[in-house]
Amino acid sequence: MTFSDAEVERYARHLVLREIGGPGQQALKAASVLIVGAGGLGAPASLYLAAAGVGRIVLVDPDVVDRSNLQRQVLYAEADIGAPKVEVAARRLSALNPHVTIEPVLARLDAGNARELARGVDLVLDGTDDFGVRFCVNAACVAEGRTLVSGAIGRWTGQVGVFRGRPCYRCLVPETPPDAETCSAVGVVGALAGVIGSMMALEAVKLIAGAGEPLAGRLLVYDALAAETRTVRIGADPECEVCGANRLGSIGQST
Ligand SMILES: [Zn+2]
Repeated sequence: MTFSDAEVERYARHLVLREIGGPGQQALKAASVLIVGAGGLGAPASLYLAAAGVGRIVLVDPDVVDRSNLQRQVLYAEADIGAPKVEVAARRLSALNPHVTIEPVLARLDAGNARELARGVDLVLDGTDDFGVRFCVNAACVAEGRTLVSGAIGRWTGQVGVFRGRPCYRCLVPETPPDAETCSAVGVVGALAGVIGSMMALEAVKLIAGAGEPLAGRLLVYDALAAETRTVRIGADPECEVCGANRLGSIGQST
């Protein structure tokens, strides 16, 4: 895979980085990424991954742009209100970088399409705020052997983690928390979506280029009000119904 003069110029700041360079940029161009949710986190994540030259980006989201999205979902503008998010996003991202392919999927990820979507890419990013969808994405990633970069935000706090096999996201969140909050109910500061969505894109670039230490098996928590971060290790849950020894459907199989 070779780069045109325009691509060499476009990616110049990556090409001089020792940890990316020519091989890393080639890996980015050859990579395919699924981004679940084209909202607060999917918007900055997709913008940075398209700009970075990730060769193929599949965006899944069932929603249309709402005026209340514009406070943080930086892919969209006033004129996009009412239009399907993935269609607006595909136009915007293609305009940003014509060297990448954007595949919009106007649908909700569910148990019926999750595995096929995960199978079709190298890496999965989940920026949705629905635990049912999150569990579906995680189960599909474990089943298809895909690495999952997961981000979440609410109020003034955000988190990002990388899950490769075990521990999986379900080890961290076994069931929908009884006090689960949604941004529509409790609010979220807009710039926090930019911080966490960009961290998700950064972890994806690291994973694809083989740069540094990914957040695998760890969770980075950012408290924006205190301006503090902490990183905690995630333990694999032996009883996890997705990746544990007694997971559903795996009894009798060797692992
Ligand atoms: Zn697990």
